[in-house]
Amino acid sequence: MVTQAYLPPREEYDKYLDKIWESHWLTNNGELHDKLAKKLEEYLGVSNVTLFVNGHSALDVVFKAMNLTGEVITTPFTFASTTHAIVMNGLTPIFADIKPSDCTIDEEQAESLITPRTSAIVAVHVYGCPCNVSALADIARRHHLKLIYDAAHAFGVKVDGKGIGSFGDVSMMSFHATKVFNTIEGGALLYDDASYTRIFNLYKNFGITGPEHVEAVGLNAKMNEFQAAMGLAVLPHVDEEIKKRKALTEAYRSGLKGIPGIRFLGDMKNVEHNYAYFPIFVDESEYGRTRDELFEALGEQNVFPRKYFYPITSDFECFKGRYDYLALPNARYAADHVMTLPLYGALQIDTAKDIADMIREMAK
Ligand SMILES: *Cc1c(COP(=O)(O)O)cnc(C)c1O
Repeated sequence: MVTQAYLPPREEYDKYLDKIWESHWLTNNGELHDKLAKKLEEYLGVSNVTLFVNGHSALDVVFKAMNLTGEVITTPFTFASTTHAIVMNGLTPIFADIKPSDCTIDEEQAESLITPRTSAIVAVHVYGCPCNVSALADIARRHHLKLIYDAAHAFGVKVDGKGIGSFGDVSMMSFHATKVFNTIEGGALLYDDASYTRIFNLYKNFGITGPEHVEAVGLNAKMNEFQAAMGLAVLPHVDEEIKKRKALTEAYRSGLKGIPGIRFLGDMKNVEHNYAYFPIFVDESEYGRTRDELFEALGEQNVFPRKYFYPITSDFECFKGRYDYLALPNARYAADHVMTLPLYGALQIDTAKDIADMIREMAK
């Protein structure tokens, strides 16, 4: 399978469950919730972490709390969540293309799409590859736009030694079971400006400010104590998980090296990667089989990659014809040729080598 959720040693989770049974405090800013937020601020190298029940709700709250209006410039090469959160808040997504080198938003094209109606740029550190954070910060500053990152894939990633969550105005991380760090379901907003804390907390708890006071039209998006317990039990193991993923990534890279028509991403300069995914791009004119043919052939050998991300979000049935203004050739190429290979800490190095060998042998 493309991934397998990390589970901590059972007794380490149970230790935190015992605390819940003692306190009878199950949700609403419990002790474990607050402890996890503190530990994540340290680990992720960011001043403020506000926890949420999942990453999507966190992103939803950003758009509501920041009062964004009009158009938002974003990428179509992402998971459904990014575009849905924009559209559900009554905003118009304006899709910029991606760069073939790392699949993140093309910052030059993003700038060319800015109009007087634009209120924000929503970029995605897809596969955990950082966007061009300095160029985007410069564009956002010059045009007075909010800069929001979907950092769902980027847990633990650093750029020039700085935590990925300290770039832009706010970043969203997902702690879903399939991500590098999990709280079963879960997510967070990461930001340096502490003045956001109050409003983010307000919006995740119905906008309630006191027993008789409701200040904003909020939602219920609080992380509960069982999720926080899982996070506290998983966090001490995340460095080891990333180390194993790195070794697997290196095994894939050396196993796939030199196969005509198979391209993959390398490490980026000054970036500490988390090895969240291992995408490959299949060029049928050199490899002799299409991405879909290779995908099928691997499935027959009980290897189940995923087509992250196909189709691009602007091609979803629910958006068809509504937002596809630009051709987006790079995003379309990536979506039509990509698959992400199995990658998770518990995967054996020999299995990764076998998968690479299969891909070599399946070439026509
Ligand atoms: C997982 C993911 C999300 C949503 O996170 P959830 O915690 O599942 O709600 C958002 N964006 C991207 C790119 C993701 O991969």
